[in-house]
Formats: sequence, structure tokens, C-alpha cells
Amino acid sequence: MDADVIIVGAGAAGLSCAVQLSDAGFTRQLKILLLEPRTEYTHDRTWCFWNVLPNPFEDCVSHRWRTWSVADQTRRVDRSSPGLTYDHLPADVFYDRAQRLLGADPNVELRLGVRVNEIEQQGNLVRASTDNGEVMARLGLDSRPRPVVDRRRPARDRRCPRLLQHFHGETIRTDADVFDPSVATVMDFRVSQDRGIHFIYLLPFDARTALVEDTYFGDEPRPIESYAGEIADYVITQFGVDRFEVLHSETGAIPMDACPAPASDASRILDIGIRGGAARPSTGYAFLAIQRNAAMLAKRLTTWAEDPTLEPPKHVPHYSDRSAFLDRVFLSHLVRCPERAPEMFLAMFERVPPDALARFLFDGGSIFDDLRVISALPAAPLVAETVRLYGPRNPPR
Ligand SMILES: Cc1cc2nc3c(=O)[nH]c(=O)nc-3n(C[C@H](O)[C@H](O)[C@H](O)COP(=O)(O)OP(=O)(O)OC[C@H]3O[C@@H](n4cnc5c(N)ncnc54)[C@H](O)[C@@H]3O)c2cc1C
Repeated sequence: MDADVIIVGAGAAGLSCAVQLSDAGFTRQLKILLLEPRTEYTHDRTWCFWNVLPNPFEDCVSHRWRTWSVADQTRRVDRSSPGLTYDHLPADVFYDRAQRLLGADPNVELRLGVRVNEIEQQGNLVRASTDNGEVMARLGLDSRPRPVVDRRRPARDRRCPRLLQHFHGETIRTDADVFDPSVATVMDFRVSQDRGIHFIYLLPFDARTALVEDTYFGDEPRPIESYAGEIADYVITQFGVDRFEVLHSETGAIPMDACPAPASDASRILDIGIRGGAARPSTGYAFLAIQRNAAMLAKRLTTWAEDPTLEPPKHVPHYSDRSAFLDRVFLSHLVRCPERAPEMFLAMFERVPPDALARFLFDGGSIFDDLRVISALPAAPLVAETVRLYGPRNPPR
């Protein structure tokens, strides 16, 4: 055996699980090996989230906004709440911190430049085949991203609506003071809605510098130039600026899937991260759910490590059944009526108290938070959607 646990893919979930396992004392006796194909880490993304969950990376947050807004052609809604912030964590800072924490643990090894081609269970062991040979362990955590499925294919069941959140963002610097650095714009729908649900996400770091992200909830990614053109149009229209320098860019596609692919059925291979269903189907947010899941998994694996005669822990779902049900109805409605998205999101931000909404978005709230969100949304279409999905005349295909 090369290690007790192998972690396939050392991105957000792989590194977070390793940090939590080390922190929980798992590596006092046992060894973790992370296998990651990239040879160096870069600032390839930024993570943002409301500060509703303590996590080991809190002090890597580089920027915090106390007010956030959503807007459409008719109005802008600004929200804030004492103590609640929208936090920005740059990926390079996260990767550095995780590597430093893991580097201090002699029982954790991070092997860069190693791609895993296959991972399978053989009896009570797990075998990963890589370009550099085979690796054996007692348990595997797999975070390899799945291929982005073609969202234009019909979902396998009407109860499995799905969209793809695809986006490109540019951190730009203008030569005039145009941004209000005190407000993060989480959704600005004042852009064309002709190609589906479309908004701009704007994080201003100071009066001249902001991350401007052109985002769709749609079906397939677009060419980078097309997002870049829309960012330029937005900056001209909303801020009257036609020249800016691009300091950094990031591109992504996140599944918004009410029925993420089923977890591996091998009892010693657990899917983690987006592969394990971390992306919230109705929003695409994943970072905090990854942190919560890593902490839970570390606890269970550490208990198992103390008595290896126990069966290894099973897949830990990222979201509750209650939130899965609500997401299914909401997403199904968005898929069928994308033109209603601006109205729905504005209503949610306008009518739900910010703390309750932040907890709800991370599935960390109570049933009362859920009820507040439900009662903020137009009732008739969502009831009709529920009947469409679950009514007696509509059994699943
Ligand atoms: C640009 C961008 C911005 C985002 N912003 C936010 C945000 O603001 N808030 C939020 O909540 N979520 C955000 N997300 C969504 C989500 O939090 C991230 O995608 C997050 O990185 C997912 O973590 P993960 O571990 O599942 O995947 P990743 O972090 O992508 O890690 C997967 C790892 O697997 C490795 N890998 C790939 N193939 C193999 C292989 N064959 N063998 C071994 N390893 C392999 C990859 O190199 C990678 O390191 C964003 C996503 C992107 C792409």
C-alpha cells in the first residue's frame, strides 16, 4: 500500500479534505496521498460566499463586502445585515495556505504532475492507475471533474431539471473612479436575456478595479470573445468607460443539476467536490458546501481509522433532501420559464431577511428560513411547477 487514503485531484475539495483530515488527527497514524495532474497552482478562480460557516481558510479572505445588490431593468435592491459579509477568497491564496498546512504534516504527501486514469476497488483495497504506475490504498476520495454533459439533451426525467452555469470574468482597471467598492453586485440582469438567463456579477475592489463576470444559466459555454464583448458593452453602458486594462481573467462552467450523477457504488471510493454533488443546483455555489462536507467526512474517517474493522463511511450528501426538493421545483421553473428569473431572484433578495437568505443559499438554515424564501416567491407558478413534477397525473418517466 502506498497510503491509507488516496485523494484523486487536489483542487478545492481534495485539498480541503486533506486539511480537515490532518486537523482531525487522522494522520497521526495513517498516511494520505494526494494525486494532482497540474504541476503548479495559479490564481485560476476566486471563491465568494456569505460568511455563514467557520472554515480553516477564513483568514485567506482578501476582501469583504457589507452590502450586496441585485438589479434588473426596473429596480436595484441593496441588502446588508450587521455581521454578515460577502467574502472573496482568491484561489492562489487558498492553494498556498493548503499546501503550507499539508507540508507541515509528515503523513501527507501531495504529488503534482500525476494524472489518475482510473480508480477501482479490488477487495478491501483501492487501486488508482496513473501515467506513472499504480497506487494502492485502503480508501479513495475522488474529485476528478466529470465531463460537462450536453445540457441540450433532454434530462433523463422531468424531475431532473438541469442547467449549466457558464461564465467568463475579467478583473479590469479603469483610469477613472467609476465603481462603488462598498457594494458587490451579485446579479445585474440589465443585459440581453435573448440567450437565456444572463447577468453580470461585479465585485469592485476599489473605485477603479473590479472583477466583472458575464454569467449565463444556460446550456453550453460560449466563445471567450463573446463574454469579453459583453463585459465591455456592460462597462460602457453602465459606467461610461470604454477603455480599461484586463489584469486577470477566469472562465468556468458549473453544473446546476437537480440529479447529479450517482455516487460511486464502490464502498471504498467516495466522490467529493462537484463530482460528489457539491454545486447547489439552484445557484452553482459550492465552496462552503465543500468545506462543510470535508469537515464531516474527516470526522467520520477519523472514527473509522480508530477501528478499521468498521465498514468505511458512506458518501456524505452535500445538501439535505429538503433543499434538493426545493431546488428541483425552482430549477424546473427556471428551465421552463427563464424570462421569470430576474423577477424571482429580485423578489428573493428583496423580501427575505439577508441572514435567512444567506443560510438558505448554503442549506444551513432552518425550515423557517426555507418558508421565508418560499413565501417571498410568486406562489402560483411554483405550486403549478410542484404539481407538474409530482402530481398524480405526472409520474416520472
Ligand atoms: C472560475 C470559477 C469560479 C468559481 N467561483 C465560485 C464561487 O465564487 N463560489 C462558490 O461557491 N463556488 C465557485 N465555483 C464553483 C466551485 O466552488 C469550484 O469549481 C471548486 O473549485 C470545485 O471544487 P472541486 O474540488 O470539486 O473541483 P476543482 O477545484 O476543479 O478540483 C478538481 C481537481 O481534480 C484535478 N483533476 C482533474 N483530472 C484529474 C485526473 N484525471 N486525475 C487526478 N486529478 C485530476 C484537477 O486538476 C483539480 O485540481 C467556481 C468555479 C469556477 C470554475
